[in-house]
Amino acid sequence: MSIDADRARPAVLLNPLAGDPTDADSHIGGPLLWPIDEPWPTCDGTTHDPASGAEPFVGAVQLYRRDYPELPFPEGADLLQVFLCTLHHELPHAHGPDVRLVWRDSSTVVELIEEEPEPSVQEELYVPTVNALEPIRYTEHADKVSGGTKIGGFTPWQTEPVEFPCPDCGAAQRQTLSLGTHEPSGEDVEWEFGREGNLNVLTCAKDVRHTVTVHVD
Ligand SMILES: [Zn+2]
Ligand SMILES: [Zn+2]
Repeated sequence: MSIDADRARPAVLLNPLAGDPTDADSHIGGPLLWPIDEPWPTCDGTTHDPASGAEPFVGAVQLYRRDYPELPFPEGADLLQVFLCTLHHELPHAHGPDVRLVWRDSSTVVELIEEEPEPSVQEELYVPTVNALEPIRYTEHADKVSGGTKIGGFTPWQTEPVEFPCPDCGAAQRQTLSLGTHEPSGEDVEWEFGREGNLNVLTCAKDVRHTVTVHVD
């Protein structure tokens, strides 16, 4: 489908609100459902200030399929976990935190990690606050794009739109997750990306586990 023909897409505003979510909930900034016997994701530090060295990623968002069936879950997965390295990175299309996605089968998690590792140093601007989610479903139009935290929809460009091919297979990538500095509700997560913009995660349309593009605009 050409970009011109594709003018409307389903989208879900996550609509974060102060709350006390658990690892069994979809949330921003709460505890993750992470198994005790799996290594926690680590940023090797090659794209953040090298003086900081390797640091653990921070659990930023987790979304269950039962709450967000619109996400492109691969077969067997029912939980998306989004991690940020909360230091400043110089990435090809982003000056900001780096991102890892983990697509998990929650039914295989038996024993949970006791304590999530914490980085020794973080950029305050990239650290999420704890939020429950009150999702709002809507159809997003290409000429009326929300800058709130959302899944699906269109990339909220502040600069010229760009298309990203998958680095692994060349297929088109699609807008999957956007973390917004400002929420339509006014209840911001208190993180900031770019100049009060958005951190966008684009995934391969053929295989969501292929390398993602992180884009800050
Ligand atoms: Zn890093
Ligand atoms: Zn691909």
